[in-house]
Amino acid sequence: MLAPATPAGDEVQQSLYAKRQKIYPREVHGLFAVLRISAVLTLLGIFYGLPWLRWNGHQAVLFDLPARKFHLFGLTLWPQDFILLAALLIIAALGLFFFTALAGRLWCGYACPQTVWTEVFLWMEHALEGDRLQQMKLDKSPMTWRKFRIKASKHALWLAFSAFTGFTFVAYFTPVADLLHRLVTLDLGPWETFWLVFYGFATYGNAGWMREQVCLYMCPYARFQSAMFDDSTLIISYDDKRGEPRGSRKRGTDSLRAGLGDCIDCSMCVQVCPTGIDIRKGLQYECIGCAACIDACNDVMDKMGYAPGLIRYTTHNALRGRPSSILRPRLFVYGGLLSAAIAAFAWILLARVPLELEVMHDRNRLYRETDAGLIENVYTLDIVNMDDRRHAYTLRAEGIEGLIVETDPPEIEADAGEMKKIPMRLRADGARLSGRSNKVRLLLTARDDPRLTASEETRFLGP
Ligand code: SF4
Ligand code: SF4
Repeated sequence: MLAPATPAGDEVQQSLYAKRQKIYPREVHGLFAVLRISAVLTLLGIFYGLPWLRWNGHQAVLFDLPARKFHLFGLTLWPQDFILLAALLIIAALGLFFFTALAGRLWCGYACPQTVWTEVFLWMEHALEGDRLQQMKLDKSPMTWRKFRIKASKHALWLAFSAFTGFTFVAYFTPVADLLHRLVTLDLGPWETFWLVFYGFATYGNAGWMREQVCLYMCPYARFQSAMFDDSTLIISYDDKRGEPRGSRKRGTDSLRAGLGDCIDCSMCVQVCPTGIDIRKGLQYECIGCAACIDACNDVMDKMGYAPGLIRYTTHNALRGRPSSILRPRLFVYGGLLSAAIAAFAWILLARVPLELEVMHDRNRLYRETDAGLIENVYTLDIVNMDDRRHAYTLRAEGIEGLIVETDPPEIEADAGEMKKIPMRLRADGARLSGRSNKVRLLLTARDDPRLTASEETRFLGP
């Protein structure tokens, strides 16, 4: 904050940069801690496990950048399928809007990679340095052999976990068995090495050192999410009508008789907060919606013999005694758009034919007349078999009566993922042509699966 105006000649200099105060979140137990731990284990299980999963003899999920293919559970996507990726990104964005409007920062509190990895780094820190008070004491104490040993072990563990994370990230782009073999034999390529080190250090830096700083200063989502909030959005809030006036008291004290609210001012909600804020000051952008303060306060309420929910999921409307409604226009808009995007994605996926055909007319010669008196045009076919099986194909041409199709070789076959260039000649009786340029449609069909048909239009030129 800027300093207030001072009399002339009495200048005050104040830094606009506030030095980071390390936050030591206290461990917390309760319903939302269980939900958060379950989310962390599930998401990390998926992230670390997927590269090892096999599907039809291949790695189930693999972004094969050199081959420009994306393998996804037996489905092979090509650059031509970019629209599917675009649809997925739109679904992700609309899903984020929908769930934020419905229940606030669910993503930040339970599923954001920054939250998930920070949680794991905190577990490791607690395991090696002890609870909150022990960590604070250790940090204040002078460097001793014991302190050095504990700190070195913690950073070694963080680094090992980060390196494993970097390895897993690269395994989404390089087959994992091959990557592991080349890692062990010190034969990694320069890009693999770069991304392994980069992603590993990003994990170590973000989850080990920067933690809440990423949410407070780097994440754009924290800044614009309020645009999706309204007075009926679920938020985590302190009930000040019930809690104030706050004050300490003995266990079991009747708040009303003591002239107090239910908040005993124990600061447990502040101590467990990973961003170090006091939820009692109202809704703040620093709140990532992790619900740790709900668990902590419910525990305190339980010990005091008070009802739970002094801090709870609620809405602005509910706090002001007004009715809250889940069914709101913005939810219908976000929900409608999300459903439409999911339907479009499903439709594109179902209608997708893993076969591509392109036809190019010979540029050197428009046409020629054969010895038999027919008009001949020469083309090149570009065929891409985007399926994960080999196919033999039949080629047909429509548009001119009696059109003769000839390819070299006569049998068209392509392996899974193969791109082929095949010369093709079309011959037609000149008397059947309607003009100098005639529309022709070519149809390529897999013999073992007629649904695999690709078609392309071209021109047949004559005199
Ligand atoms: S944990 Fe509950 S009782 Fe304790 S200070 Fe926070 S709001 Fe008050
Ligand atoms: S205020 Fe509560 S919900 Fe928000 S970040 Fe802190 S502990 Fe989590």
